[in-house]
Amino acid sequence: MKVTLTGTGSPIPDANRAGPSTLVQCAGQNILIDCGRGVAMRLVAIGVPAPFVSAILITHLHSDHITDLNDVITTHWVMTGIETPLNVYGPPGTQTVVDGILMMLAPDISYRLAHHTDTLTYKPNVVVTEVKPGATFAIGDVQVRVARTHHQPVEPTVAFRLEHDGKSVVLGGDGIPCDTLDEICAGADAYVQTVIREDLVKLINNKRFQDILDYHSTVEQAAQTATKAGIKKLILTHYVPSMQPGQEEEWRAFAAKYFAGEIVLGDDLTTTTI
Ligand SMILES: [Zn+2]
Ligand SMILES: [Zn+2]
Repeated sequence: MKVTLTGTGSPIPDANRAGPSTLVQCAGQNILIDCGRGVAMRLVAIGVPAPFVSAILITHLHSDHITDLNDVITTHWVMTGIETPLNVYGPPGTQTVVDGILMMLAPDISYRLAHHTDTLTYKPNVVVTEVKPGATFAIGDVQVRVARTHHQPVEPTVAFRLEHDGKSVVLGGDGIPCDTLDEICAGADAYVQTVIREDLVKLINNKRFQDILDYHSTVEQAAQTATKAGIKKLILTHYVPSMQPGQEEEWRAFAAKYFAGEIVLGDDLTTTTI
């Protein structure tokens, strides 16, 4: 099982970090979790262009996590030689968002259908499955479990646990620690959590920025969740504020105060094997 941080940025555009997304590869599946800014570019950079994405899992419908879902939909549709469904799993509301994206893309879809009349005879085939906490499903031989997370007032938000052949990884999405996150993390090999640095956020005298403190895990909270759950490898992403070159060990030290296992963090395309 391989986890790649295809985007480690946040809602704030960054010259070097794409928006939040993570790719999990195992059992022949390429499972993309969230679709932040630049995801289609990052997928190409790791040799998994959009047509090779097996399924997309959406943790929640905050814009930074779905900004480039439309790009993945279009690229998957145009670059795949035959009609292939693109499976998208997300919390209730995902179908409405996908319907809106397809409406936005309607002019483009009509142009391409009119232009490639012999080879492109079908519209994008996006199959949405809305999942609720407690749901389970499979992507190939990969088992997926869904749990509620706490990112209020964003509602509903979910975490996913992917398992195959005795290996497991939890994608926590955004949110603060809660019982259901603890439960789905329990005993997993790896845990990917989006994090903020409370000490740095507090230095920025801006109310809209301060507001993020009450609904995102800090680095320390992610580490505490990992320790409580017996996680072996803690993977941090979606750094707020953006982690600057040379700051990596400082961020790692904040997590290491509460977690004794391996801590993975870094630039976009950081990869780790579980
Ligand atoms: Zn976010
Ligand atoms: Zn969010």
